[in-house]
Amino acid sequence: PSPLDKEQMQGLRGIREFLKVRTSYDVLPLSFRLVVLDNDLLIKKSLNILIQNGIVSAPLWDSRNSAFAGLLTSTDYINVIQYYCQFPDQLNQVDQFRLCNLRDIEKAIGVVPLETVSVHPMRPLYEACRRMLKTRARRIPLVDTDDETGRETVVSVITQYRILKFIAVNNEQHTMLLKKPVGELGLGTYTNLATATMSSSVLDVIHLMVKHNISAVPIVDQEYKLLNVFEAVDVIPCIKGGAYDELSATVGEAISRRAEDFAGIYTCGEDDRLDSIFDTIRKSRVHRLIVIDDDSRLKGIISLSDVLKYVLLHGEEDDSIRG
Ligand code: ADP
Repeated sequence: PSPLDKEQMQGLRGIREFLKVRTSYDVLPLSFRLVVLDNDLLIKKSLNILIQNGIVSAPLWDSRNSAFAGLLTSTDYINVIQYYCQFPDQLNQVDQFRLCNLRDIEKAIGVVPLETVSVHPMRPLYEACRRMLKTRARRIPLVDTDDETGRETVVSVITQYRILKFIAVNNEQHTMLLKKPVGELGLGTYTNLATATMSSSVLDVIHLMVKHNISAVPIVDQEYKLLNVFEAVDVIPCIKGGAYDELSATVGEAISRRAEDFAGIYTCGEDDRLDSIFDTIRKSRVHRLIVIDDDSRLKGIISLSDVLKYVLLHGEEDDSIRG
């Protein structure tokens, strides 16, 4: 291996050691708020609560059994939309769905429910990362048991973004060693990209996300120049108030309805190195990087799961088979 490869491995090993000596609890800020939704809540109302609180996901609570009941994410709303598409004459029923009906919706449209994994907050952070990669979850709830009652309590939820931010902020001495260009590493996806145009309907883009099992679709013009990105979380404001018929609106219209604090789109070039990607993560709220060329033409997409997978598993093939 070249000196560059050696340095790269040294950086990766440093980060992996760090993840093994820190816990999920360490990722949490000193004080934070957690919005937990009751499983009996109408799905329609849950949308407003997420929007009002500026969040895109929340743990669910089964108050009858006093138990954690999974995580509500944009995927659940996409499932509801698919249900509505398959049974369009049942809008009244869709309006009456509660969060506890989400599992029935999954069954009705034939999607395999996401495995609900959780981790104990005091377990090594490395474990939470491995579980996330294994289940393709983008966020993982931290579940503890109350000493007195013996009941489960949800402490918080950590996302891929939070973990990568935590790595970026605390590992500058390691991330600076990651000097290989992302193109050379093959980091991300560069073929068979799912894209849409500004005039595609929101519904078309949702179907693309479902078909490819992805959380974002780059929006390009006729010359394949990047204009924007439509994300799974963009679906939430689209169906606010149960306005499912508005899904036939164009992506362009939906994007114009984004919240003012929208994090923005982040791009990079194939020659950019992983260390500069970590710099971006350190400074900004990045959920993916779109790879473009000098003419802004779309080349690829690097998701946070691609970065996390590389950081954890590169050069550890045997380990990844054992899972
Ligand atoms: P994450 O799991 O971080 O939310 P995604 O679900 O968007 O990321 O990505 C899952 C995988 O699919 C990644 O390997 C990513 O490179 C790839 N991918 C993401 N978006 C697209 C797209 N529009 N077309 C093709 N592949 C994509």
